Amino acid sequence: MESFQHIETDLFIIGSGMAGMSAALFAANRKINSVVAGGAGGFEYSSGLLDLWGLSLTQKGLTQRERVSKKPWDMVLKIYDQMPDHPYAKIKKEPLKQAFYELIKSLKSQGLTYTGYDALNSMVMTPFGTLRPTYRLPVTMRSNIEAFKKKGPCLILDFRGLREFSAVFFKEMMKKNWPGIRTQCLEFPGTQLRSEVFTPFLARSLETEQIQEKFLKLVKPLLKGESYLGLPAILGVQSSGKILNMLEKELNIKVFEIPTSPISVPGIRLKETLMKAIEGSSVTLLQNQRVIKVLKASNKGFECQLGSKIFPAIVHAKAVLLATGRFLGKGLYADQKKIYESIFDLPVCQPKTRKEWHRPDFFNPDGHKINQAGIETDDFFRPVTKKKKPVFNHLFASGSILAHQDWMRSKCGAGLSIGTSFHAIQSYLQIQNGKFI
Ligand SMILES: Cc1cc2nc3c(=O)[nH]c(=O)nc-3n(C[C@H](O)[C@H](O)[C@H](O)COP(=O)(O)OP(=O)(O)OC[C@H]3O[C@@H](n4cnc5c(N)ncnc54)[C@H](O)[C@@H]3O)c2cc1C
Repeated sequence: MESFQHIETDLFIIGSGMAGMSAALFAANRKINSVVAGGAGGFEYSSGLLDLWGLSLTQKGLTQRERVSKKPWDMVLKIYDQMPDHPYAKIKKEPLKQAFYELIKSLKSQGLTYTGYDALNSMVMTPFGTLRPTYRLPVTMRSNIEAFKKKGPCLILDFRGLREFSAVFFKEMMKKNWPGIRTQCLEFPGTQLRSEVFTPFLARSLETEQIQEKFLKLVKPLLKGESYLGLPAILGVQSSGKILNMLEKELNIKVFEIPTSPISVPGIRLKETLMKAIEGSSVTLLQNQRVIKVLKASNKGFECQLGSKIFPAIVHAKAVLLATGRFLGKGLYADQKKIYESIFDLPVCQPKTRKEWHRPDFFNPDGHKINQAGIETDDFFRPVTKKKKPVFNHLFASGSILAHQDWMRSKCGAGLSIGTSFHAIQSYLQIQNGKFI
């Protein structure tokens, strides 16, 4: 007979991706007694940019690439009319702004600074030599925007054995617009015996003074009066701002990061900083723990069994926030006919038949219906039954598991997670205070 540890909490946040960790931060800032459990989520894939909205809702009949919006807040206002079922339509503009502001302030207080314009998206250079819109970017990518605008002489570095970024490919893709790029491949200090190197390893190595010194010695002689030095995103995990300042000072050049393909250091930075921000707070993180069974679920509370053999536990919670993501996060799964929600077997809003999941044309600018499938909620982000009644009074959902949004197409991944988690935490408090049930 297995003996379980019993954990009592007010709020159990299931999922520790962008939505779950944002909710954990908002709960910590409000001193809500909470437990958060889950795996890495999309962090390791994410380029660490915080997208709010990047798709134009006014230009029709263009390809998705051409429908880039530089004014995210103008588009958010249009969502209320044009996409009334979108989760953003349940959050007003000011609370959405407040959610971003609170998250960014907390990240900054932990040493991770984000930057960007108040009303505009920035266009960030990607490893593929394209530009993509985002609302907030790590300060280590600040000169990424400026360098492309000014197109001054620039050295782009990559490293022997690194697969996540190629300077030569980047230059090749950029050369039509920006001829002043030179490239150089370096052997990163301490990697002589490695046939392959990965960005998280390089980033963590660069945290040490010894490697920083060796790195500077290698790079200094390569500079030939360039205005900018571009690198794959490897400027540390815990102290990226400091490493950026040190390089700029010692090399006397503007340095910028280019996001890489996964595994992505800026995503890991974001996750680790959010973990630091909730340390010692009212929120307990149970890392890499999965809910395998719901033992009880009613308007009186929830009992959820966690799956680890080393840590068999039952969480008893007055309320649950479901932030388990979509198919990648495993919040949703599908068989040949239907899509299901994996923990509470909640109703999933989805096309009537499988035939409607995808359009025949993969690149159809209107997207595919399967990407809008998910959990429908009331205005308090509580999952609802087919009759639009809350399934449970104290069950909430946030992030990419929600229906009527296609974050990938509309470039609203982080914004959706931050905004809906903020709203769900506010709703939780309102309901706890007896304002609404
Ligand atoms: C390749 C890629 C690049 C991206 N780049 C960006 C970007 O640059 N900017 C941006 O804004 N967005 C980006 N995104 C999107 C962003 O990462 C998503 O918005 C985000 O991952 C969705 O967050 P989520 O928390 O809803 O889901 P997920 O990140 O999928 O997290 C789900 C969480 O639920 C947990 N979970 C699932 N089932 C259980 C269970 N039974 N018990 C316990 N826990 C469970 C998982 O372990 C995980 O922790 C990117 C996404 C991808 C895939």
